[in-house]
Amino acid sequence: MAKAECPSCFFEFELDEGTIVGEVIPCPDCGVDLEIIEIQGDVAKVEEAEMAEEDWGE
Ligand SMILES: [Zn+2]
Repeated sequence: MAKAECPSCFFEFELDEGTIVGEVIPCPDCGVDLEIIEIQGDVAKVEEAEMAEEDWGE
């Protein structure tokens, strides 16, 4: 599976199998929410998810 690096703590980790672009996963190290921006080959681009103004459609 693809590897990603947390932009917050620079921890490198492997994504779970079946992880898709747009998914939000917590960093295994610092716990910040990370959104998958792009997966290319075995490298994934992630960004800190902006949760503040999102309404998750409740
Ligand atoms: Zn982190």
